[in-house]
Amino acid sequence: MRKPLIIANWKSNPLTLKEAVVLARSAEKYSKIFRGADVVVAPPFLFISAVSKILRQAKLGAQDVFWAEGPYTGEISLRQLKNLGVRYVIVGHSSLRMTLGETDEMVNKKIKKNSLKGVKKSQLERVVVAYEPVWAISTMPGAQVDTPQSAVRALRYLRGILSRMYGKKYADKVKMLYGGSVSAKNARQFLILPGVDGALVGGASLRPQEFGEIISQASAF
Ligand code: PEP
Repeated sequence: MRKPLIIANWKSNPLTLKEAVVLARSAEKYSKIFRGADVVVAPPFLFISAVSKILRQAKLGAQDVFWAEGPYTGEISLRQLKNLGVRYVIVGHSSLRMTLGETDEMVNKKIKKNSLKGVKKSQLERVVVAYEPVWAISTMPGAQVDTPQSAVRALRYLRGILSRMYGKKYADKVKMLYGGSVSAKNARQFLILPGVDGALVGGASLRPQEFGEIISQASAF
């Protein structure tokens, strides 16, 4: 199995810089203790600069990026993120589709116009795909974590699409994550699955000890 990747998606949390610093320090602490897993922390743009000064072992992520540089009110470009040390960017999250009407075309532009121009085969090892059923996201009413069987099926399906596009050898380089109500209680049942390279963690990444427990479980694989 590849080194598991655990991505913390803080969404629009926390409310204060002070809390963000506490969360980032904790994620960094657990990343240093449990080095068997790669950890990425994706805070809101607001806290990226402060969090960048704390993370060393854990990598810095962002929750979105715009497709162009220039005079776009409220938007953030890839170059700005890179200059702050951002190594990962989440694009196409379902919450943007649902609340802001982000379309496939917009997601496509964000990918193609930024560093992954045309996604060359050799760059596929830098691509991470997260399968995250909307109904499993912890903030959705009646959210329920997916079953391991269903997650395996979905990820196999997604890898099949990549294989047809790029060939199996290259498709296998892409890391595939499960996301949706991942907690310290259920993380292991996903991390252990064939074809699952890690987890995208929302709510539980805001609970320092629980997030540490998830990192520790991932590190043990
Ligand atoms: C997410 O929405 O990206 C997510 C992982 O959420 P949660 O873990 O809270 O379901």
